[in-house]
Amino acid sequence: MSETSPKLRAELDGIPTYKPGKPGKPTASGGPAAYKLSSNENPYPPLSGVMERAIEAAGAFNRYPDLACSGLMEELADRFGVPVSHLATGTGSVGVAQQLLQATSGPGDEVIYAWRSFEAYPIITQIAGAASIKVPLTPGDAHDLDAMAEAITERTRLIFVCNPNNPTGTVVRRAELERFLDRVPGDVLVVLDEAYREFIRPGRGAEGGEVPDGVEIYRDRPNVAVLRTFSKAYGLAGLRVGFAIAHEPVAAALRKTAVPFGVSQIAQEAAIASLRAEDELLGRVGALVAERERVHAGLVGQGWTVPETQANFVWLRLGERTVAFAAACEAAGVVVRPFPGEGVRVTIGEHEANDLFLQAAETFRKEM
Ligand code: PMP
Repeated sequence: MSETSPKLRAELDGIPTYKPGKPGKPTASGGPAAYKLSSNENPYPPLSGVMERAIEAAGAFNRYPDLACSGLMEELADRFGVPVSHLATGTGSVGVAQQLLQATSGPGDEVIYAWRSFEAYPIITQIAGAASIKVPLTPGDAHDLDAMAEAITERTRLIFVCNPNNPTGTVVRRAELERFLDRVPGDVLVVLDEAYREFIRPGRGAEGGEVPDGVEIYRDRPNVAVLRTFSKAYGLAGLRVGFAIAHEPVAAALRKTAVPFGVSQIAQEAAIASLRAEDELLGRVGALVAERERVHAGLVGQGWTVPETQANFVWLRLGERTVAFAAACEAAGVVVRPFPGEGVRVTIGEHEANDLFLQAAETFRKEM
């Protein structure tokens, strides 16, 4: 065998690997299977109409899918009141985020985002060969948009604003977002990552103003793109379909950088059926939001400091206690998502799972 190995791009050195949430598994004591609260998934099984349409599409998987996702694009155009030319799809919104990087950034360029935020941002930025400029969250675990605006240089190509923010659940409000966007040069793309949009409830935190809908914000701002997904509220995480809404040059660039045939026909059909069953699906989201409020209030009642969350998860800043807390939850039957040294993100799941988590948190707190 030759001593040399293929030359790989130096940019790939040291890329952090994406850590998926740990799967649920039977507890060591042989107790009930653990609930998985580690990946912000929707705990509900697929709606019957969605399932049937997906199964029907599965009967033709000897064929390639519709490359242009035409049926889904039309459905989305209708649903959001945007032209088809302003849409692009991808293999989950993380796929579309990678297309955004490929379309805008390379070696010598800078990408700004808050930190901590969605852990794919540093990975896809580094794969593109661009530099990550991480702007710390405020002490309240929210985006510091003033600091992000100040971080812009002539090398900046893209800025992610994750709203609500993963993993803290905090939101950016309309006035501060518009003030920020007014400061961003027109040749820098701002991506509003709204993976958890459907979990936002109006009227909360009214003192800070409303949480804006990116689809309204993008309309008169050609340098704004909105990222959405079918993985969270719509419950299609395993099918990998997400999309962006952006003005034509950006959307066209995203269609160019997409993996050809990346979105399966099963995913396309399930997404269409989900949009048609939206009332029922979003009813389930309402139940999850009610559970979120219950969990949040429960934690606050136990004495924890928990940022207000508008997503399907809560964030506990535990610092050095993070790993021990995650282990305690696991022993109690719920798998959560630790970020060692920082905190724990816990997805809102089934009622029983949320109860187990609240009990584990209470016990841990008393022993602290
Ligand atoms: N954006 C954010 C903020 C997320 O939290 C996630 C999922 N963890 C995604 C995008 C990607 O989700 P998907 O690729 O399944 O659409």
